[in-house]
Amino acid sequence: MVLTEKYQLIKKLARDFAENEIPQELQDEIEETHLLPDSFREKIAKSGLLGMKVPKTYGGGGLDTLGYVLAIEEISRVSCVSAIYISGANSLGSGPLLQAGTPEQLEKYLRPVTYGEKYPAFGLTEPGAGSDSGGVQTSAVKDGDYWLLNGRKCFITAAPWADYTVVYAKTDPKAGSRGITAFIVDMKLPGVSVGKPENKMGILGVPTSDVILEDVRVSDGDRLGELNRGFSNAMKTLDYGRLGVSAQCLGLGQAALDEAIKYSKERKQFGQKLSEFQALRFMIADMATELYAARELVYNACVLKDKNDPQASMHCSMSKYMSSEMCNHLAYKAVQIHGGYGYIKDYKVERLYRDARVQSLYEGTSQVQQIVIANNLLK
Ligand SMILES: Cc1cc2nc3c(=O)[nH]c(=O)nc-3n(C[C@H](O)[C@H](O)[C@H](O)COP(=O)(O)OP(=O)(O)OC[C@H]3O[C@@H](n4cnc5c(N)ncnc54)[C@H](O)[C@@H]3O)c2cc1C
Repeated sequence: MVLTEKYQLIKKLARDFAENEIPQELQDEIEETHLLPDSFREKIAKSGLLGMKVPKTYGGGGLDTLGYVLAIEEISRVSCVSAIYISGANSLGSGPLLQAGTPEQLEKYLRPVTYGEKYPAFGLTEPGAGSDSGGVQTSAVKDGDYWLLNGRKCFITAAPWADYTVVYAKTDPKAGSRGITAFIVDMKLPGVSVGKPENKMGILGVPTSDVILEDVRVSDGDRLGELNRGFSNAMKTLDYGRLGVSAQCLGLGQAALDEAIKYSKERKQFGQKLSEFQALRFMIADMATELYAARELVYNACVLKDKNDPQASMHCSMSKYMSSEMCNHLAYKAVQIHGGYGYIKDYKVERLYRDARVQSLYEGTSQVQQIVIANNLLK
C-alpha cells in the first residue's frame, strides 16, 4: 500500500519516539529486570501514546486503525514489549469501553487512560477457558444494586499495574456464551487480588498475572453494556486487538530482517561475506517477501475495519494468523543466519525469537484464527 503523507508522518513520529526514547541500554535494563521502569512508563503516559487510538472527544489522539497500526509497528521494531504496553491501553483496554461504555463510564474510566492516569486490563481468559473463551466460569450474581463476582482470570497482561480490569463473567450460567456480561472491576475493591507474575519466555517487561475475584462487590453502574452481551463485546474488541498484535508482528518481522541483512554483510566465512552465499541470499529474499505480503494484508484489514466492511472481522483474523506465523519464520531464519551467535543474548535476534513466539498464541491462537476464517467462508 502506498502510504499518504499523513501516514508517513505518523510512521516517522513513532519511529523517532522508539529510536530516541528506547535506547539499547533501556532495552537491556528491561530484559534484565523483566519490567518497564516506572520512569519510562511515565514518559509513555505523558507522550499521549496510551490514548492515540481513542477518539479526540475523550482526550485521545483520534488515530484511525491504519495510523495506530503503523505507530505500533514502528515501536515494536525497536521494542516489542513497549509496543505491547502501548497497544494494551489502546486496544484491549479501551476497546470494551468504546464498544459499550455509557458517557459516565467513558469519562470516569476511558479519559484517564488517554491522560496516562489510569491503566486498564482485559480479563477474559481463565484456567479452563482459553480458546473456548465462551466457557468462562467466573460468576456474577445480582445483589441489590451490586453484583457479587467470584472467579479467577489468568494470563492477564499488566494486571499488577492495572487500575481496573474489564472482567467477563457468567450472569446466566445456562446460556453459554450468551450468558456473559462485562464488568469494570476497580483493582482496589475488597476481594480483588493479583497473582505472582508468570515466568515467561519472552516479552519481558510487562507482567502477566492471574486476577483473583473473591466476593467482589461491583456496583451495577460499573456493569459494561447490556446484560448477557459481554461475549460479543469481547469478540468485537478482539478484532482491534488482533490488528494491534499484527502490528507488533510486522515490527518484529522487520527487525529480524534488518538484523539478518546487517549481520550477513559483516560476517565472513570461507573467505567471503555471508551475504554472498546464495542459500542465505534466498533466505533473505523469502523473508522480505513474506513480510511484504503480511504487511499488505494487515494494512488492508485496517482500512476494511474502519469502513465497517462485513468481511473485516475475517480479515483481522487473517492478518493476525499470517503476520504472527510470519514473524516466527523470520525470527527463526534471522537466528539461523547468525549461526551460534544468534543463540547468544548479546545479539538482538535472540530476543526477537523469544518475543515472536507468543504472537501466534495470545488473542486467539493460529488455530482459532483458522476457525474464524473457515466459519466465515463455510457459513
Ligand atoms: C503472555 C500472554 C498474555 C496474555 N494476555 C491476556 C490478557 O491480557 N487477557 C486475556 O484475557 N488473556 C490473555 N492471554 C491468554 C491468551 O489469549 C490464551 O492463552 C489463548 O487464547 C489460548 O488459550 P490457552 O492458553 O488456554 O490454550 P488452549 O485453548 O488450551 O489451546 C491449546 C492448543 O489447542 C488448540 N486448540 C484449542 N481449541 C481448538 C480447536 N477448537 N480446534 C483446533 N485447535 C484448538 C490451540 O490452538 C492450542 O494450540 C495471554 C496469554 C499470554 C501467553
